[in-house]
Amino acid sequence: MIYFFGNGEADGKVTMKPILGGKGANLAEMSRIGIPVPAGFTISTEVCTYFFHHDGAYPEKLREQVDKMLAKVGKAMGNRFGDAKNPLLLSVRSGARVSMPGMMDTVLNLGLNSETLQGLLKQSGDERFVYDCYRRFIHMYSNVVLDLPHERFEEALTHMKKSLGKQQDMEVTAEEWKGLAEQYKAVVLEETGKPFPEDPLEQLWGAIGAVFHSWNSDRANTYRRLNNIPHDWGTAVNVQAMVFGNMGMDSATGVAFTRDPATGDNRFFGEFLINAQGEDVVAGIRTPQEITLDGKNRAKSPHLAMEEVMPELYQELVTVYKRLEGHFRDMQDLEFTIQKGKLWLLQTRNGKRTVQAALRIALDMVKEGLISQREAILRVKPEDLNQLLHPMLDGKVARNVIATGVPASPGGAVGEVVFTPEDAVQWVAEGHKVILMREETSPEDIHGMHAAQGIVTARGGATSHAAVVARGMGRPCVSGCHDLEIDQKSQTCTVKGQVIKKGDWITIDGDQGQVILGRIPMIEPQLTGDFDKFMKMADTVRHLKVRANADTPVDAENAVRFGAEGIGLCRTEHMFFKDNRILAVREMILAHDEAGRRAALDKIMPMQRSDFEEIFRVMKGRPVTIRLLDPPLHEFLPHEVKEQTDVAQVMGVELKEIQARVGALKEFNPMLGHRGCRLGITFPEIYEMQVRAIMEAACNLVKNEGFAIIPEIMIPLVGLPQELKFLKERTLKVCAEVMEASGVKIDYLVGTMIELPRAALVADVLAEDAEFFSFGTNDLTQTTLGISRDDATPFITAYLEKGLVAVDPFVSLDQSGVGQLVEMGVKKGRAVRKSIKVGVCGEHGGDPASIGFFENVGLDYVSCSPFRVPVARLAAAQAVIAR
Ligand code: PEP
Ligand code: MG
Repeated sequence: MIYFFGNGEADGKVTMKPILGGKGANLAEMSRIGIPVPAGFTISTEVCTYFFHHDGAYPEKLREQVDKMLAKVGKAMGNRFGDAKNPLLLSVRSGARVSMPGMMDTVLNLGLNSETLQGLLKQSGDERFVYDCYRRFIHMYSNVVLDLPHERFEEALTHMKKSLGKQQDMEVTAEEWKGLAEQYKAVVLEETGKPFPEDPLEQLWGAIGAVFHSWNSDRANTYRRLNNIPHDWGTAVNVQAMVFGNMGMDSATGVAFTRDPATGDNRFFGEFLINAQGEDVVAGIRTPQEITLDGKNRAKSPHLAMEEVMPELYQELVTVYKRLEGHFRDMQDLEFTIQKGKLWLLQTRNGKRTVQAALRIALDMVKEGLISQREAILRVKPEDLNQLLHPMLDGKVARNVIATGVPASPGGAVGEVVFTPEDAVQWVAEGHKVILMREETSPEDIHGMHAAQGIVTARGGATSHAAVVARGMGRPCVSGCHDLEIDQKSQTCTVKGQVIKKGDWITIDGDQGQVILGRIPMIEPQLTGDFDKFMKMADTVRHLKVRANADTPVDAENAVRFGAEGIGLCRTEHMFFKDNRILAVREMILAHDEAGRRAALDKIMPMQRSDFEEIFRVMKGRPVTIRLLDPPLHEFLPHEVKEQTDVAQVMGVELKEIQARVGALKEFNPMLGHRGCRLGITFPEIYEMQVRAIMEAACNLVKNEGFAIIPEIMIPLVGLPQELKFLKERTLKVCAEVMEASGVKIDYLVGTMIELPRAALVADVLAEDAEFFSFGTNDLTQTTLGISRDDATPFITAYLEKGLVAVDPFVSLDQSGVGQLVEMGVKKGRAVRKSIKVGVCGEHGGDPASIGFFENVGLDYVSCSPFRVPVARLAAAQAVIAR
């Protein structure tokens, strides 16, 4: 139940974090290796669990053990708890298994009462110090343990200073602090009907109970939910001897990092204050002094550095920090206090750092022999790499956030608002920078999205069209901002009563899902040498191949730059919207017969072929999976009269006829309607044209440019093996014809997507025809959960808030549900065709947690947006190590 630390010994150690909490385990470890820490003890997390299971009662004998520990701590520190002459004062802090910053409470200076005050006076010889400690203690204790509002005490303090005509705490005298302490006690009596507790033991038990209770506070519960921390872990309580940095000019307090947390440079770095308490450093009332001379030079501080004013203690601190870093084998963030010329360490933990610093430190520590390459690879969070790939908003500039939504595609963007893709294109041509704001986007908006700096939508979620496309293009995007009321007619947007007009400047933060009024300055991305070195190191252990979802040569170039080993999904429909092709596409859809369709397809074919040629050229022989046409037909239909008139003209028919045809093609549920391979079956000539374009492009490059290209032709939304058989037969026929005609023989594959539960269930039969599988987990999630991927955000958000799901299943794979289908599909497929290539191309292919799952079920590759490729590479490497 209780673990002692101090005096160069400890009952616990660093590996006992589940029982001692992070702070307790590190304190024990520091003491064990001879670092000077004020003695204390940790009450285990198991006591916390007991406490909650027994209505706030403590285990038998806990009190006895606490008494024993208090004596032991007093012995180590040379004083005694509650002693009027030489009192031991305590700090009481929470400490969970993982750090939950600022979430639970702390009580300092515990044990002070009218008698022990005299003892502290004797120890310090400083009356002002003593009464300052006392009033701080009453304030903290009353707030944390007695649950009295903070403001009651703040008000009394402000009132006192005002009536004395004093501005700063430093000007307040001992007598005045004493008076304030009395006032505080009166507040307690008034609010609780009981006097402030005098008995140190009563104070201690009050604080212990309060720390345990704080585990169940609203803010703690919320924090755990947001960070996936189990509620049953509980917190430990650390009871530790107080040491004071404000006992005179030979006392001080400070914080330090063993390496620079911003750059990662191997340079001791920190700040301290003479004659001050820890909170003074943080509060910023006094300007802290640098610890090292080096730091001083950089900061051009007029104050002396610790290295100058306390050279011996500085040397001692240097020895300690080197020891700590060597022992914990990571950059440490430490807190220390010097009490009357003696150095004490209060805390050490792995220091938070920027991504740049994380890369540098990991690489340096490998070089220094401190950690292995595998450990180094685990030291960087894959998601954090995002910060290096996109221009970021300057975090130091204040933001006027007017709406929040789903952080759908990372990075920051600044521009003038436009409400139509046409305006986006035109304004950009005229030299503007724009943000495209839409109710939601559709494939028709592609050109506008491409022209824009960033995209905002009022509807949709993480896998909505806008999100998927924006990520692919590397455009920052905030989707599903429900507060935005967009009025296309007046070209304005109203948000909480404020009107945004076309041409107004806004900024979006795709990492935090914010829409900000005005312009925030940007910081350009830097792919430094460290990034490259680190990624190459990670690649040495990786097993999954990483490909990119790329539809254009520009996307493909980005993908290669970020290290993609192929294209796992080229969505050909996006090519249909380029330039004036959409007219021909509409002509094809609206044609009455095959002849009409073929005439239109003949116009599209050369353009498709040249698209593929360009992509193949960029990919230089890396595999390219091209998906045949997939989206619901309605996405291509002309909805506006002007568009309908254009098509009518080209086809030489009446507008009415076009409108009738559009009406006839309307579907109630297009996502489950005429889409995917169903299009290829009803209109075989569409797929024939596409296959011909792919194969001719490949043959041309092989013949004319000497490329070795292995196209992978992919058929979407298959559920019945017959569908695949039907389409494969025709595909093979076209391929043979093209090769025959061009006199070139190339290897190519024909495979299928697995996007429907039925496809996973019959994967063995599908594998008879499919040479590869690609799990389309966007649709597979949609069809397995029966949740529309475009309409999910409002209620998934509610589910998240109510704790029904831990993550959005469209963001991170639903491993226990959809995951079973993936696993089954892989097994069944390999049972029939051992060498079948298996990958994933849904958005989950770029999600680290899902990548861990894909590694474990034995996929060959993952495919994700180009900008997620580095994230996926690192996550895939970490998955191997984790396994
Ligand atoms: C999928 O469904 O996972 C997929 C990759 O296809 P799309 O997102 O284009 O429907
Ligand atoms: Mg799909």
